[in-house]
Amino acid sequence: MGRYTGAVCRLCRREKDKLYLKGDRCYSDKCGVVRHAYAPGEHGQARQKFSEYGQQLREKQKARRIYGVMEKQFRRYFKEADRRKGVTGEVLLQLLESRLDNIVFRMGLARSRNEARQLINHGHFEVNGRKVDIPSYLVKPGDLVAVRENRKNKAVFKEVVETREQQELADWLEADYEKLQGRALRIPQRDEIDVPLTEHLIVELYSR
Ligand code: SF4
Repeated sequence: MGRYTGAVCRLCRREKDKLYLKGDRCYSDKCGVVRHAYAPGEHGQARQKFSEYGQQLREKQKARRIYGVMEKQFRRYFKEADRRKGVTGEVLLQLLESRLDNIVFRMGLARSRNEARQLINHGHFEVNGRKVDIPSYLVKPGDLVAVRENRKNKAVFKEVVETREQQELADWLEADYEKLQGRALRIPQRDEIDVPLTEHLIVELYSR
């Protein structure tokens, strides 16, 4: 199945949670979840009761939607998290947080992960001085992520930086908005990853 190209607010409404997929709009009262606090579709307002499997599945879908990851790739992240030392659910989130598109978004150089993905695909970013146009590129602590020199005067970056105060910079990141660059200082702990996920449900789903 290909990447979802429909109205993204429907995805938040399906999960009955803000997934912050749209940038500025997500912080306003125009947010789809604020305006329609029920699932989309004909039966959206009906009471829904999920089985244990249903809950696990919804949680995995929510994670995929937040980070914009396809099913196959998401499973690969899980396998890698399972292989590494540590609590699998937490390691899974740490891997997802290390994606270049997420780091660009978290640093405030894009208004959403979708926008970050697009800017990276268009070749606007470099890591440690080398162009990287792969949104799933895994950034390591200390790597310097920057807008490439010849792309710095693009209007989009001016707009992004002007509106970035809506999003607070996490402690595990640093950013320089004059130079349009930043880095992850370390791998974030679970309590520093502000996503509305119960990751142990995802681990249970894949451990079935
Ligand atoms: Fe989700 Fe943002 Fe749409 Fe609100 S505005 S429903 S948070 S994508």
